[in-house]
Amino acid sequence: MKTEITNLVKLQKLDDVIRALESRLAEIPKEVETLEREIATEKGNLKAALDGLAEVQKDQRAAEGTLSVAEEKLGKYQVQLMSVKSNDEYKAMQRQIEATKGEISDLETKILQGLDAVDELEAKQSTREQELEEGQKKVAGMEKELDVEKAKLEAELATRNDGRKVVLGIIPEATLSEYRNIAKTRGGVAMAAAVEERCQVCMVRVRPQVFHELRMYKKFHQCGNCGRILYFLEEEQAAAT
Ligand SMILES: [Zn+2]
Repeated sequence: MKTEITNLVKLQKLDDVIRALESRLAEIPKEVETLEREIATEKGNLKAALDGLAEVQKDQRAAEGTLSVAEEKLGKYQVQLMSVKSNDEYKAMQRQIEATKGEISDLETKILQGLDAVDELEAKQSTREQELEEGQKKVAGMEKELDVEKAKLEAELATRNDGRKVVLGIIPEATLSEYRNIAKTRGGVAMAAAVEERCQVCMVRVRPQVFHELRMYKKFHQCGNCGRILYFLEEEQAAAT
């Protein structure tokens, strides 16, 4: 009787550890996914910065092209101005020259502003590159740590599962099936220690007679409240675990 209870307690402890190991193992891929998402976001930020820069550079080249056309036009008008015959023609040519000068001045302003924008965007690009590089380094380090942790957990899980098989082999089938039925509907916890006449899972009192029988390992008892299999535990042992 005592051995059976002791083995069930062992089994419960192994099941608890195995459950915790499995739940941690299940978290690891999610953590890796979160890290990968961070990197994808940083890559997206860098791409946005590069696209913005390319756009402004394209506008700059277009403005420079338009400027050189306008400058050529101005040169031609100035030559033509020398060969005009009438006063009206002269005035008309002067107006065209003024208009072209205005156009040139606007383009020069636009190009200067574009240069500032390029500087700003290049600084942004370099910040984004740095962020990405740092992010990748950080993530690589964390992923390595997670890999190490995963290997450790898997090794421990294998050891615990081996231990569990041994314990399963020495518990009678009927007792095991009761343990499983109780565990299934109670979050995997079938066993409850009784300390000082109290179920330590639901904290409801155990009758003195029942507690006495538990202490003597006379009989199996389930907690009248939570239905778990009770086992006797000295107060000091309970405090130590
Ligand atoms: Zn209980």
